[in-house]
Amino acid sequence: MQAEIKAESKKPETKRKFDVIIIGAGPAGYTAAIYTSRARRETLVISGNLPGGQLMLTTDVENYPGFAEGIFGPELMTTMRKQAEKMGTIIIDDEVTNVDFKRRPFKILTYSEEYEASAVIIATGATPRKIGAKGEEEFSAKGVSYCATCDGPFFKNQDLAVAGGGDSAMEEAIFLTKFAKSVHVIHRRDKLRASKIMQDRALENKKIQFHWNSVVDEINGSQKVNQIIIKNLKTEQKETLEAGGIFVAIGHEPNTKLFKGQIELDGQGYIKLKNSTQTSVEGVFAAGDVHDHRYRQAVTAAGFGCMAAIDVDKYLSENRK
Ligand code: NAP
Repeated sequence: MQAEIKAESKKPETKRKFDVIIIGAGPAGYTAAIYTSRARRETLVISGNLPGGQLMLTTDVENYPGFAEGIFGPELMTTMRKQAEKMGTIIIDDEVTNVDFKRRPFKILTYSEEYEASAVIIATGATPRKIGAKGEEEFSAKGVSYCATCDGPFFKNQDLAVAGGGDSAMEEAIFLTKFAKSVHVIHRRDKLRASKIMQDRALENKKIQFHWNSVVDEINGSQKVNQIIIKNLKTEQKETLEAGGIFVAIGHEPNTKLFKGQIELDGQGYIKLKNSTQTSVEGVFAAGDVHDHRYRQAVTAAGFGCMAAIDVDKYLSENRK
Protein backbone atom coordinates (compact mmCIF):
# COMPACT_ATOMS: atom_id res chain seq x y z
CA MET A 1 0.00 0.00 0.00
CA GLN A 2 1.28 3.47 -0.81
CA ALA A 3 2.19 5.81 1.99
CA GLU A 4 -0.43 8.47 2.60
CA ILE A 5 0.58 12.07 2.20
CA LYS A 6 -0.03 13.95 5.41
CA ALA A 7 1.37 17.45 5.25
CA GLU A 8 0.93 17.91 8.99
CA SER A 9 2.98 14.81 9.78
CA LYS A 10 6.09 16.50 8.34
CA LYS A 11 8.07 19.23 10.01
CA PRO A 12 7.68 22.51 8.06
CA GLU A 13 11.45 22.93 7.67
CA THR A 14 11.65 19.65 5.71
CA LYS A 15 9.29 21.00 3.02
CA ARG A 16 10.88 21.94 -0.28
CA LYS A 17 9.25 23.75 -3.17
CA PHE A 18 10.51 23.66 -6.76
CA ASP A 19 9.31 25.02 -10.08
CA VAL A 20 9.67 21.57 -11.59
CA ILE A 21 10.09 18.14 -10.10
CA ILE A 22 11.19 15.40 -12.46
CA ILE A 23 10.49 11.88 -11.31
CA GLY A 24 12.96 9.45 -12.86
CA ALA A 25 16.56 9.78 -14.00
CA GLY A 26 16.98 8.03 -17.32
CA PRO A 27 17.70 9.82 -20.61
CA ALA A 28 14.22 11.45 -20.54
CA GLY A 29 14.54 12.74 -16.96
CA TYR A 30 18.09 14.06 -17.29
CA THR A 31 17.42 15.72 -20.64
CA ALA A 32 14.29 17.38 -19.26
CA ALA A 33 16.36 18.59 -16.29
CA ILE A 34 19.08 20.05 -18.54
CA TYR A 35 16.43 22.04 -20.39
CA THR A 36 14.34 23.25 -17.43
CA SER A 37 17.41 24.19 -15.39
CA ARG A 38 18.91 26.01 -18.35
CA ALA A 39 15.59 27.88 -18.66
CA ARG A 40 16.18 29.02 -15.04
CA ARG A 41 13.42 26.90 -13.60
CA GLU A 42 14.37 25.57 -10.19
CA THR A 43 14.49 21.84 -10.86
CA LEU A 44 14.64 18.78 -8.65
CA VAL A 45 15.20 15.29 -10.06
CA ILE A 46 14.21 12.39 -7.84
CA SER A 47 16.10 9.51 -9.37
CA GLY A 48 14.29 6.42 -8.07
CA ASN A 49 15.91 3.10 -7.31
CA LEU A 50 17.95 2.85 -10.53
CA PRO A 51 19.57 6.27 -11.09
CA GLY A 52 20.43 6.40 -14.79
CA GLY A 53 17.68 3.95 -15.76
CA GLN A 54 17.92 0.96 -18.05
CA LEU A 55 21.17 2.14 -19.66
CA MET A 56 22.96 1.51 -16.36
CA LEU A 57 22.44 -2.20 -17.10
CA THR A 58 23.93 -2.14 -20.60
CA THR A 59 27.48 -2.09 -21.85
CA ASP A 60 28.22 -0.48 -25.23
CA VAL A 61 25.79 2.02 -26.71
CA GLU A 62 26.60 2.48 -30.38
CA ASN A 63 23.48 4.27 -31.57
CA TYR A 64 23.40 7.35 -29.37
CA PRO A 65 24.45 10.20 -31.67
CA GLY A 66 27.62 12.08 -30.83
CA PHE A 67 29.82 9.13 -29.89
CA ALA A 68 31.55 7.82 -33.01
CA GLU A 69 33.30 5.05 -31.07
CA GLY A 70 30.22 4.25 -28.96
CA ILE A 71 29.95 4.81 -25.22
CA PHE A 72 29.22 2.63 -22.19
CA GLY A 73 25.62 3.03 -21.00
CA PRO A 74 26.59 3.92 -17.41
CA GLU A 75 29.15 6.46 -18.68
CA LEU A 76 26.52 8.09 -20.90
CA MET A 77 24.13 8.39 -18.00
CA THR A 78 26.75 9.70 -15.58
CA THR A 79 27.68 12.34 -18.13
CA MET A 80 24.03 13.35 -18.58
CA ARG A 81 23.68 13.62 -14.81
CA LYS A 82 26.77 15.85 -14.55
CA GLN A 83 25.47 18.02 -17.38
CA ALA A 84 22.13 18.48 -15.57
CA GLU A 85 23.93 19.30 -12.31
CA LYS A 86 26.14 21.80 -14.13
CA MET A 87 22.97 23.55 -15.29
CA GLY A 88 21.85 23.80 -11.67
CA THR A 89 19.60 20.74 -11.28
CA ILE A 90 19.37 19.29 -7.80
CA ILE A 91 19.35 15.49 -7.96
CA ILE A 92 18.47 13.26 -5.06
CA ASP A 93 18.77 9.49 -5.10
CA ASP A 94 15.55 8.74 -3.30
CA GLU A 95 12.34 6.97 -4.24
CA VAL A 96 8.94 8.57 -4.63
CA THR A 97 6.43 6.80 -2.43
CA ASN A 98 3.32 8.84 -3.21
CA VAL A 99 2.12 11.80 -5.24
CA ASP A 100 -0.83 14.15 -4.97
CA PHE A 101 -1.74 15.81 -8.25
CA LYS A 102 -5.24 16.72 -7.09
CA ARG A 103 -4.20 20.01 -5.51
CA ARG A 104 -1.67 22.71 -6.28
CA PRO A 105 1.18 22.97 -5.76
CA PHE A 106 1.58 19.28 -6.52
CA LYS A 107 2.89 17.18 -3.66
CA ILE A 108 5.52 14.49 -3.96
CA LEU A 109 6.51 12.32 -1.08
CA THR A 110 9.75 10.33 -0.91
CA TYR A 111 11.06 8.05 1.80
CA SER A 112 12.75 11.00 3.45
CA GLU A 113 11.02 14.25 2.41
CA GLU A 114 7.89 15.92 1.15
CA TYR A 115 8.29 18.21 -1.84
CA GLU A 116 6.05 20.66 -3.69
CA ALA A 117 6.18 21.54 -7.36
CA SER A 118 4.39 23.92 -9.70
CA ALA A 119 4.94 21.42 -12.51
CA VAL A 120 5.93 17.77 -12.70
CA ILE A 121 7.55 15.66 -15.40
CA ILE A 122 7.08 11.92 -15.04
CA ALA A 123 10.01 10.06 -16.59
CA THR A 124 9.90 6.80 -14.69
CA GLY A 125 10.34 4.59 -17.78
CA ALA A 126 9.28 1.00 -18.23
CA THR A 127 10.76 -2.24 -17.03
CA PRO A 128 11.20 -5.15 -19.44
CA ARG A 129 9.44 -8.28 -18.21
CA LYS A 130 11.81 -11.06 -17.18
CA ILE A 131 11.38 -14.69 -18.16
CA GLY A 132 12.56 -15.82 -14.74
CA ALA A 133 14.85 -18.53 -16.11
CA LYS A 134 17.94 -19.71 -14.27
CA GLY A 135 20.92 -17.66 -15.50
CA GLU A 136 18.82 -14.73 -16.77
CA GLU A 137 20.09 -12.31 -14.16
CA GLU A 138 23.64 -13.67 -14.08
CA PHE A 139 24.07 -13.18 -17.83
CA SER A 140 22.21 -9.88 -18.10
CA ALA A 141 24.30 -7.70 -20.50
CA LYS A 142 26.51 -10.76 -21.06
CA GLY A 143 24.33 -12.29 -23.74
CA VAL A 144 20.91 -11.71 -22.19
CA SER A 145 19.41 -8.55 -23.66
CA TYR A 146 16.05 -6.81 -23.60
CA CYS A 147 16.63 -4.68 -26.70
CA ALA A 148 17.65 -6.06 -30.11
CA THR A 149 17.96 -2.60 -31.66
CA CYS A 150 20.47 -1.71 -28.94
CA ASP A 151 22.50 -4.91 -28.75
CA GLY A 152 21.81 -6.93 -31.93
CA PRO A 153 24.81 -5.65 -33.91
CA PHE A 154 27.17 -7.05 -31.23
CA PHE A 155 26.13 -10.59 -32.18
CA LYS A 156 27.28 -10.87 -35.77
CA ASN A 157 27.25 -14.37 -37.30
CA GLN A 158 26.02 -16.01 -34.12
CA ASP A 159 23.11 -18.30 -33.38
CA LEU A 160 20.65 -16.36 -31.24
CA ALA A 161 17.35 -16.85 -29.45
CA VAL A 162 14.32 -14.64 -28.92
CA ALA A 163 11.73 -15.33 -26.22
CA GLY A 164 8.16 -14.20 -26.89
CA GLY A 165 5.36 -14.38 -29.43
CA GLY A 166 4.17 -10.78 -29.72
CA ASP A 167 4.98 -7.99 -32.18
CA SER A 168 8.15 -7.07 -30.29
CA ALA A 169 9.47 -10.63 -30.44
CA MET A 170 8.76 -10.89 -34.18
CA GLU A 171 10.27 -7.47 -34.84
CA GLU A 172 13.37 -8.35 -32.83
CA ALA A 173 13.75 -11.76 -34.46
CA ILE A 174 13.47 -10.27 -37.96
CA PHE A 175 15.90 -7.47 -37.06
CA LEU A 176 18.40 -9.97 -35.66
CA THR A 177 18.45 -12.01 -38.88
CA LYS A 178 20.42 -9.11 -40.40
CA PHE A 179 23.35 -10.03 -38.17
CA ALA A 180 22.78 -13.54 -36.87
CA LYS A 181 23.48 -16.89 -38.47
CA SER A 182 20.14 -18.15 -37.16
CA VAL A 183 17.43 -17.06 -34.74
CA HIS A 184 15.42 -19.44 -32.53
CA VAL A 185 12.06 -18.04 -31.45
CA ILE A 186 10.86 -19.62 -28.23
CA HIS A 187 7.15 -19.14 -27.58
CA ARG A 188 5.04 -20.60 -24.80
CA ARG A 189 1.99 -21.31 -26.98
CA ASP A 190 1.41 -22.74 -30.46
CA LYS A 191 -0.03 -19.45 -31.75
CA LEU A 192 1.62 -16.10 -32.04
CA ARG A 193 0.10 -12.99 -30.49
CA ALA A 194 1.82 -10.78 -33.07
CA SER A 195 -0.11 -9.02 -35.85
CA LYS A 196 -0.69 -11.05 -39.01
CA ILE A 197 1.80 -9.09 -41.08
CA MET A 198 4.58 -9.54 -38.50
CA GLN A 199 3.74 -13.23 -38.15
CA ASP A 200 3.94 -13.73 -41.90
CA ARG A 201 7.25 -11.94 -42.17
CA ALA A 202 8.78 -13.97 -39.35
CA LEU A 203 7.34 -17.29 -40.51
CA GLU A 204 8.63 -16.71 -44.04
CA ASN A 205 12.12 -15.80 -42.88
CA LYS A 206 14.40 -18.80 -43.48
CA LYS A 207 16.82 -17.80 -40.74
CA ILE A 208 14.10 -18.04 -38.08
CA GLN A 209 13.19 -21.33 -36.45
CA PHE A 210 10.16 -21.56 -34.13
CA HIS A 211 10.00 -23.62 -30.96
CA TRP A 212 6.31 -23.83 -30.05
CA ASN A 213 4.81 -24.50 -26.62
CA SER A 214 8.26 -23.91 -25.20
CA VAL A 215 9.85 -21.84 -22.48
CA VAL A 216 13.44 -21.01 -21.58
CA ASP A 217 14.46 -23.26 -18.74
CA GLU A 218 18.09 -22.32 -18.27
CA ILE A 219 20.68 -19.93 -19.70
CA ASN A 220 24.26 -21.15 -19.48
CA GLY A 221 27.73 -19.88 -20.30
CA SER A 222 31.05 -18.97 -18.80
CA GLN A 223 31.99 -15.32 -19.41
CA LYS A 224 28.91 -14.92 -21.61
CA VAL A 225 25.96 -16.94 -22.83
CA ASN A 226 26.76 -19.97 -24.98
CA GLN A 227 23.82 -22.30 -24.37
CA ILE A 228 20.09 -22.13 -23.80
CA ILE A 229 18.02 -25.01 -22.51
CA ILE A 230 14.37 -24.89 -23.49
CA LYS A 231 11.50 -27.01 -22.26
CA ASN A 232 8.47 -28.10 -24.22
CA LEU A 233 5.46 -27.48 -21.97
CA LYS A 234 3.41 -30.27 -23.58
CA THR A 235 5.99 -33.05 -23.65
CA GLU A 236 8.18 -31.80 -20.76
CA GLN A 237 11.14 -32.58 -23.03
CA LYS A 238 14.20 -30.40 -22.82
CA GLU A 239 16.32 -29.31 -25.75
CA THR A 240 19.72 -27.62 -25.76
CA LEU A 241 20.33 -24.76 -28.18
CA GLU A 242 23.86 -23.54 -28.78
CA ALA A 243 23.36 -19.78 -28.85
CA GLY A 244 25.52 -16.76 -28.13
CA GLY A 245 22.68 -14.60 -26.91
CA ILE A 246 19.04 -14.42 -26.00
CA PHE A 247 16.73 -11.47 -26.51
CA VAL A 248 13.81 -11.38 -24.11
CA ALA A 249 10.81 -9.71 -25.74
CA ILE A 250 7.83 -10.64 -23.60
CA GLY A 251 6.59 -7.11 -23.02
CA HIS A 252 7.30 -4.19 -20.73
CA GLU A 253 5.69 -2.93 -17.56
CA PRO A 254 5.42 0.86 -17.50
CA ASN A 255 6.49 2.21 -14.12
CA THR A 256 3.20 3.93 -13.38
CA LYS A 257 1.87 2.19 -10.26
CA LEU A 258 2.38 5.41 -8.30
CA PHE A 259 0.19 7.40 -10.65
CA LYS A 260 -2.89 5.17 -10.79
CA GLY A 261 -5.95 7.21 -9.88
CA GLN A 262 -3.99 10.47 -10.31
CA ILE A 263 -3.58 10.65 -14.10
CA GLU A 264 -5.12 8.80 -17.02
CA LEU A 265 -3.39 5.58 -18.07
CA ASP A 266 -4.14 3.36 -21.06
CA GLY A 267 -5.22 -0.28 -20.84
CA GLN A 268 -1.62 -1.43 -20.53
CA GLY A 269 -0.75 1.11 -17.85
CA TYR A 270 1.13 3.58 -20.06
CA ILE A 271 0.50 7.29 -19.48
CA LYS A 272 -1.97 8.82 -21.94
CA LEU A 273 -0.80 12.12 -23.38
CA LYS A 274 -2.53 15.01 -25.10
CA ASN A 275 -1.12 18.23 -26.57
CA SER A 276 2.28 16.61 -27.02
CA THR A 277 3.61 15.77 -23.53
CA GLN A 278 0.78 16.81 -21.21
CA THR A 279 -0.96 14.19 -19.10
CA SER A 280 -4.63 14.33 -18.13
CA VAL A 281 -3.65 16.73 -15.32
CA GLU A 282 -2.66 20.24 -16.40
CA GLY A 283 0.86 20.93 -15.17
CA VAL A 284 1.85 17.26 -15.08
CA PHE A 285 3.84 16.10 -18.10
CA ALA A 286 5.42 12.79 -19.11
CA ALA A 287 8.44 11.81 -21.17
CA GLY A 288 10.06 8.60 -22.39
CA ASP A 289 9.20 4.92 -22.10
CA VAL A 290 6.55 5.63 -19.45
CA HIS A 291 4.25 6.70 -22.30
CA ASP A 292 6.12 5.50 -25.38
CA HIS A 293 5.77 1.79 -26.08
CA ARG A 294 6.74 2.13 -29.69
CA TYR A 295 10.29 3.45 -29.97
CA ARG A 296 11.83 2.81 -26.53
CA GLN A 297 15.24 4.21 -27.44
CA ALA A 298 17.57 6.34 -25.34
CA VAL A 299 17.60 8.99 -28.01
CA THR A 300 13.81 9.11 -28.35
CA ALA A 301 13.44 9.25 -24.55
CA ALA A 302 15.91 12.15 -24.48
CA GLY A 303 13.90 13.82 -27.25
CA PHE A 304 10.67 13.44 -25.29
CA GLY A 305 12.47 14.84 -22.22
CA CYS A 306 13.39 17.94 -24.18
CA MET A 307 9.79 18.31 -25.43
CA ALA A 308 8.32 17.95 -21.92
CA ALA A 309 10.77 20.55 -20.56
CA ILE A 310 9.80 23.05 -23.25
CA ASP A 311 6.11 22.38 -22.55
CA VAL A 312 6.71 22.86 -18.80
CA ASP A 313 8.50 26.17 -19.38
CA LYS A 314 5.60 27.40 -21.48
CA TYR A 315 3.08 26.17 -18.90
CA LEU A 316 4.90 27.95 -16.07
CA SER A 317 5.17 31.17 -18.10
CA GLU A 318 1.47 31.11 -18.99
CA ASN A 319 0.53 30.41 -15.40
CA ARG A 320 2.90 33.16 -14.14
CA LYS A 321 4.95 30.79 -11.98
P1 NAP B 1 2.82 -8.37 -26.01
O1 NAP B 1 2.00 -8.06 -27.20
O2 NAP B 1 2.19 -8.29 -24.66
O3 NAP B 1 3.41 -9.84 -26.22
C1 NAP B 1 4.14 -10.44 -25.21
C2 NAP B 1 4.50 -11.85 -25.67
O4 NAP B 1 5.32 -12.45 -24.68
C3 NAP B 1 3.28 -12.75 -25.85
O5 NAP B 1 3.47 -13.60 -26.93
C4 NAP B 1 3.24 -13.54 -24.54
O6 NAP B 1 2.75 -14.84 -24.68
C5 NAP B 1 4.70 -13.63 -24.18
N1 NAP B 1 4.89 -13.68 -22.73
C6 NAP B 1 4.42 -12.83 -21.80
N2 NAP B 1 4.83 -13.19 -20.56
C7 NAP B 1 5.59 -14.29 -20.74
C8 NAP B 1 6.31 -15.13 -19.86
N3 NAP B 1 6.35 -14.88 -18.54
N4 NAP B 1 7.00 -16.17 -20.38
C9 NAP B 1 6.99 -16.41 -21.71
N5 NAP B 1 6.32 -15.66 -22.60
C10 NAP B 1 5.63 -14.60 -22.12
O7 NAP B 1 4.12 -7.42 -25.90
P2 NAP B 1 4.98 -6.77 -27.08
O8 NAP B 1 5.26 -7.75 -28.14
O9 NAP B 1 6.14 -6.11 -26.40
O10 NAP B 1 4.02 -5.65 -27.66
C11 NAP B 1 3.48 -4.61 -26.80
C12 NAP B 1 2.58 -3.71 -27.63
O11 NAP B 1 3.35 -2.97 -28.58
C13 NAP B 1 1.56 -4.50 -28.45
O12 NAP B 1 0.38 -3.77 -28.51
C14 NAP B 1 2.19 -4.58 -29.81
O13 NAP B 1 1.25 -4.76 -30.85
C15 NAP B 1 2.92 -3.25 -29.90
N6 NAP B 1 4.08 -3.35 -30.79
C16 NAP B 1 3.89 -3.09 -32.12
C17 NAP B 1 4.95 -3.21 -33.01
C18 NAP B 1 4.72 -2.92 -34.45
O14 NAP B 1 3.61 -2.69 -34.83
N7 NAP B 1 5.74 -2.93 -35.28
C19 NAP B 1 6.21 -3.60 -32.56
C20 NAP B 1 6.37 -3.89 -31.22
C21 NAP B 1 5.30 -3.77 -30.35
P3 NAP B 1 1.20 -15.13 -24.98
O15 NAP B 1 1.01 -14.79 -26.41
O16 NAP B 1 1.05 -16.57 -24.68
O17 NAP B 1 0.44 -14.26 -24.05
